[in-house]
Amino acid sequence: MTADTRVDVAILGIRLADPSDAPVARRAGAGPSDDGHLLLDGVGAAVPLNPRSPYTVSGGKLLLDGADTGMGVEAVARPRFYDLRTADGVPYEQIARLHSSNVLATTVVQTCVRYAEAERCRFCAIEESLRAGATVAVKTPAQIAEVARAAHDLDGITQLVMTTGTSNGRDRGATHLARCVRAVREVLPDLPIQVQCEPPGDLASLQELHDAGARSIGIHVESLDEAARLAWMPGKGSVPLADYRAAWAEAVRVFGWNQVSTYLLVGLGEDPDELVAGAVELIEMGVYPFIVPFRPLAGTLAVDVDGAVAPRPADVYRVTTEVAAALRAHGMLGSDQAAGCAACGACSALGSCSSAEAAS
Ligand code: SF4
Repeated sequence: MTADTRVDVAILGIRLADPSDAPVARRAGAGPSDDGHLLLDGVGAAVPLNPRSPYTVSGGKLLLDGADTGMGVEAVARPRFYDLRTADGVPYEQIARLHSSNVLATTVVQTCVRYAEAERCRFCAIEESLRAGATVAVKTPAQIAEVARAAHDLDGITQLVMTTGTSNGRDRGATHLARCVRAVREVLPDLPIQVQCEPPGDLASLQELHDAGARSIGIHVESLDEAARLAWMPGKGSVPLADYRAAWAEAVRVFGWNQVSTYLLVGLGEDPDELVAGAVELIEMGVYPFIVPFRPLAGTLAVDVDGAVAPRPADVYRVTTEVAAALRAHGMLGSDQAAGCAACGACSALGSCSSAEAAS
């Protein structure tokens, strides 16, 4: 897979003749989401489904303006656990979803204390899937354990990612996450689990998450640029970067080097050199910077109010390849994380940029 094609596809997406050609997709949810889950040359990729994309698929090949790119495309099949329901009638699909081909993902609390319009992250649609009736507001530990068991037994999922909307409490949602982790560990003691939350007010919550059985953690800052943080994340951007740094350092102490990650979005107006320099600092402290292009998603304030557009592929390519080179220089591989987005890699082109660098 060529890295520049992978970056291009991450931004421009793929036009499918029939949306059911990507039976595993998500239309809204926590963070910058809106994608179909496909295998590009056998590697999991979450790519925008875009009816205006120049990329199409024919006979299992990726075409650009009708010409064969040489890249193979396969859909991730609809998992069998989607056909089940809990005893009280909740479809499993509303409790947790398949990401890429082998990751089970759930948002344990689908509401966020920062969702008022003046506070909301402008790229986020966490409550839209709730409004659309596609999920439930709070998943219980027992529900998540039940679905994880089925997804493991029926569909062979190999890791679980649990994220949460931010709660009002000092723990920022970490306590409920820990309860959910414990419940899953009871039924699947060996399943690697990543948790994702904001820096908790009491850093002891990080130890609690690890003690519960989580083996990786994502503490997602999205941008290290103060102006971008305040413009794009007026609520979350008010959390000082010093709090993030303290949480990352404690998380590295508790979870270990390269078991901590953070999303860094490209396309929020930050300086690319500063973005790369910030990513290198994170790598040096043991935190994996997961580089993802900003995706304009209908239903978000970024698109519906601000008219934001996707970043230029050349900018994404440059930042991604430079960060991939720094990761390689430090021997930091996403696949070495026990679970989570860095381990999965489908939402980033870092993996293909690393391979391209390694091959060159
Ligand atoms: S990178 Fe994270 S959000 Fe993207 S598909 Fe993988 S687990 Fe899901």
